[in-house]
Amino acid sequence: MQNVVIKNISDKYSFVKIFPIGKSMCGRKINALSIGNRKNATLYACTFHGMEWINTLLIFHFFEELCCAYKERKIIFDVNIFEVLNKQGLVVLPCVNPDGVEIQIHGSSSCKKYEKFINRITDDTKHWQANARGVDLNHNFNAGWQQLRKLETEQGIVGPAPTRFGGRRPFSELETIALCNFCLREKFRFAIAFHSQGREVYCSYEKTPQKSIELGELFSKYSGYNLANPPEIATGGGFKDWLIGYMKTPAITVETGLGENPLPASDYLAEYEIIKKALVKCLEF
Ligand SMILES: [Zn+2]
Repeated sequence: MQNVVIKNISDKYSFVKIFPIGKSMCGRKINALSIGNRKNATLYACTFHGMEWINTLLIFHFFEELCCAYKERKIIFDVNIFEVLNKQGLVVLPCVNPDGVEIQIHGSSSCKKYEKFINRITDDTKHWQANARGVDLNHNFNAGWQQLRKLETEQGIVGPAPTRFGGRRPFSELETIALCNFCLREKFRFAIAFHSQGREVYCSYEKTPQKSIELGELFSKYSGYNLANPPEIATGGGFKDWLIGYMKTPAITVETGLGENPLPASDYLAEYEIIKKALVKCLEF
């Protein structure tokens, strides 16, 4: 699916840059698309978890609308898209965990190299969140990883699993290494990590910087999503935690949609309409 959408965008909009930031454990590309000023850019990153591919659909839809607005010099919600993106560009990662999505949708045979391994872990790949090695990417970042490990152990998660196993060490996976190196290179102005579900915004980690709180409040104001604190097992080890704690980059996590994961694909347009204003207004942050 990604390849078709990406080709359409690149055929239609020559000003968009498309490049891989790395590869997954099974060799699938982790694609990035950028528009506007890359030297001073914002990051929207999606689909860290196998069941949360609705955000890939949502972000592609948003990105295409942005491209159209940029080309035609449109104003959306009082934001001059061409002007703002030339000052502060946007990079999107539609899918950080391409293997996890394939496993969730098509089963273990979509990751040949790890097929037997996955079958030993579970016979229920419909609820698969991890990457192909059974590591939860959003538990694998080097931010409070040890404390998170303790919580995982208390919950009986001590090895590769469909969800919530943080790996043998921080940054043990190709996907998290790729994202880490990419952020070290690009030094984003701020970042939003999209997950599902709950219609909530999380901005706290350790001594939460004022900028993350302001960003969270901004997203919450324009989307109507609730500004919340994460449940304990979701604290630490995550991408936004590492951005705040190590990179000192303002960051928030947004939980799109409401219901049970995986949310049906048919939900994505309605959910996009709910958060569209927040996605646009945050470009000016
Ligand atoms: Zn998630």
